[in-house]
Amino acid sequence: MRRILLIGTGGTIACRQTADGLAPALSAAELLAWVPGAGQVCHTDFLQLMNLDSTNMAPAHWQAISRCIRQHYDAYDGFVVAHGTDTLAYTAAALSYMVQRSRKPIVLTGAQRPIDVDSTDARQNLLDSLLYAADPASQDVNIVFDGKVIAGTRAKKERAKSYNAFSSINFPCPALIQDGRIIRYVPSRPYGPDEVRFYHALNDAVALWKLVPGARPEMLAYLLAHYDCLVIESFGVGGIPEGLTGEFYAQMARWRGCGKQVVMATQVVSEGSNMAVYEVGKRVKQDFGLLEAYDMTLEAVITKMMWLMARGLPDEELKREFYREINHDILFTR
Ligand code: ASP
Repeated sequence: MRRILLIGTGGTIACRQTADGLAPALSAAELLAWVPGAGQVCHTDFLQLMNLDSTNMAPAHWQAISRCIRQHYDAYDGFVVAHGTDTLAYTAAALSYMVQRSRKPIVLTGAQRPIDVDSTDARQNLLDSLLYAADPASQDVNIVFDGKVIAGTRAKKERAKSYNAFSSINFPCPALIQDGRIIRYVPSRPYGPDEVRFYHALNDAVALWKLVPGARPEMLAYLLAHYDCLVIESFGVGGIPEGLTGEFYAQMARWRGCGKQVVMATQVVSEGSNMAVYEVGKRVKQDFGLLEAYDMTLEAVITKMMWLMARGLPDEELKREFYREINHDILFTR
């Protein structure tokens, strides 16, 4: 029987009602006790790493999760991380960069309702996650939620209350899980046993600026002075509004050669950016060599930049690495 490590980190799945509202309280051992069918699927050990509302998760917590997986990597066939849903997509993307080419599956799951209430989705999500983690064809970092398997770099929380909280953005679900059966749509990759790579360092000086019509230019100077990387969430396929262009040129001239990076992304969730289409994007991109998100999710862009910026790469290599596909994060760069 395959051996799986269940890592508890908190979230609604582990919440109890308190006078101040729901708060994480149940341990990984208590979660497992609610899923009696788990014993038929795999041998599960459990470990309580933290017990947080995932609103409080930060890059240091992602590092603690990946360190824990690394410590136990040889002893288990797969890992299930029980996690809050609010920032689950960020953690899944971060882990996709921190644990690469893993033949052993790392599954993240959670729930919209606590595991000890009658109408919960938690027991099914946890059972499905153990089933997926115990299957020899599973690999890499994925979210298992509401019967869907979503690549760790492709998930977005799109619904705040419904059970189908997560969508897979610009990429198909690698698998579905129906009535205890895994139906696969994306073939596994032929990783060797020693191919897994762990990375620990992250640079969390990555800021996001979501543009609104009439956005004021002063913000740009502040963000570039205080952060190493600025992700700009613009409109449509991507561009800089005329009202910001002057300040943009001034700031880019000021910071040129200082190792700062600017990534253009779009507020449109599906289908991605392409700055080459409109005058408002093409010229700025050419003049400054901006990076562009293309079809990557915002969660993937931000965590990939945190991972890349910590590696001290020369500009050109950083750019090449940004566009190199990892765990299905990017399909097109034109
Ligand atoms: N606030 C909770 C969390 O992210 C929500 C959830 O788990 O569904 O930890």
